[in-house]
Amino acid sequence: MSNKLEEMLETFFGFSAFKQGQKEIIDSVLSGQNTVAVLPTGTGKSLCYQLPAYNLPGVVIIVSPLLSLMQDQVEQIQMRGEKRVVAINSFNSGENRRAIFTQLDQYKFIFISPEMLGMTGVIKRLQRLSISLFVIDEAHCISQWGYDFRPDYMKLGQVREHLGNPLTLALTATATKEVVSDIVTSLQLKTWEEFLFSVDRPNIALKVEEVADLREKDQRLMELVSYLNGPGIIYFSSRKKAEAIVQLLRENGISRVMAYHGGMDQESRILIQQQFIYGQLDLVCATSAFGMGINKENVRYVIHYHMPLQLESYIQEIGRAGRDGKKSIAILLYSSGDENLSYHLVENELPNEIQIGRVFSWLKEKKIDSIGEYEDEMRAYAGLNDIQWRILADFFTSVETSGNELESILNEFQEFIKNRIQVKREKVEQLKNWIQSNQCRREKILNYFSEEKKIGVEPCCDICGLQMDSYRKEDEAIIEFPFNWQDYLSTILCKE
Ligand code: ADP
Ligand code: MG
Repeated sequence: MSNKLEEMLETFFGFSAFKQGQKEIIDSVLSGQNTVAVLPTGTGKSLCYQLPAYNLPGVVIIVSPLLSLMQDQVEQIQMRGEKRVVAINSFNSGENRRAIFTQLDQYKFIFISPEMLGMTGVIKRLQRLSISLFVIDEAHCISQWGYDFRPDYMKLGQVREHLGNPLTLALTATATKEVVSDIVTSLQLKTWEEFLFSVDRPNIALKVEEVADLREKDQRLMELVSYLNGPGIIYFSSRKKAEAIVQLLRENGISRVMAYHGGMDQESRILIQQQFIYGQLDLVCATSAFGMGINKENVRYVIHYHMPLQLESYIQEIGRAGRDGKKSIAILLYSSGDENLSYHLVENELPNEIQIGRVFSWLKEKKIDSIGEYEDEMRAYAGLNDIQWRILADFFTSVETSGNELESILNEFQEFIKNRIQVKREKVEQLKNWIQSNQCRREKILNYFSEEKKIGVEPCCDICGLQMDSYRKEDEAIIEFPFNWQDYLSTILCKE
């Protein structure tokens, strides 16, 4: 069997060897075991279902949380010449969706969003297929303790049951022991194999720099960008700030830089992503919307202008550096009080008490016990943003509304929100502790994921001692800061 897998790797994918973990995971899947695999970002998790697909008679269904991620995977599969692949999500037009459904049994790979799986019509269609493998990508979204909990993912156990409990593969890059156990329970796996690989990326050095205030932070950022060997990514929690910094960078002579965030249209986002991948941009100032599924090998640094909301996101985001295995650096800029922005963001993601109150008084007044059809009206009335609405709608569809008093649903929902806020605030707290700790940064992150640090990671982090020289640009490429155009012009124009 083993040699055969290597042959398949070569024939179907053009790769000469498996990467860490892939073979064990594929073996486990092909031996018919449900499998939970935790492998760092960029290590090739997709192959763990794509290769077995060619050894299995039926279709492979892949649940994926993000539209862009789904699209990315579909394109990658098509690029290798595989046409039997499709994505089903809320973006398919009705006509398009009907066409897909009439020939569903023609596909080998069906990517589907969790909300689609909530529709009985869709489940009925899928039940007619012979499903060889049910894959849950980004499986940490299942867990309430996960940083990226999605209520839709919680229903996947039930979905799996409706589909006849097919062989299941759960994939994620970051999961604590708690989260792994949640995944198994929620999917109702009776037996399974676990493959947990380290989240550590030894070729990425870790550094935290404390600055006095935001002005100093901007200044330091300019210095770093002109000093560090690129390409690089700078992460922000605020779209506005990302754009403002792009402006500032340009004013300082750094021109091959663009902003990237969820507020931009799809077309510009794809364009910027491509330009970055093909080396036409040196730098992207991004929010967390940038990254999942971006396969760029040679990112040399990731800077965090704002702290992320939890260590899990931090690991994911810095993991976009150094995929080629070469020396890279992650720098987090912190100024006292930064965590307040995080707390604010955490609370803003969830509907607040006033909004919840409004929703329920509206329902009471109209004597309505199902909210789906009234999205526009209710959102306008209670002032809910996209995420807030989704959380509310999800909660509502997950409780049995008929027969339940509105009052008790309200209480339950408020409890749920309180609990989410608490979990998320604790995560912010943990990250802040990491920033302010004097313990080796790598060790502390690894401990968080119940891992031990391996000895001999060098260079490791600012606590262990770190030389910045080895991350600097080639001398001639360094632009001194602040960049002085007059001097620059006079040196190239009046050489005598
Ligand atoms: P993940 O989901 O773990 O973040 P992906 O599945 O998107 O990672 O794969 C990351 C990159 O690694 C892709 O470009 C993929 O083609 C490449 N890759 C996967 N397996 C191998 C392999 N065995 N040899 C070389 N490259 C691989
Ligand atoms: Mg992936």
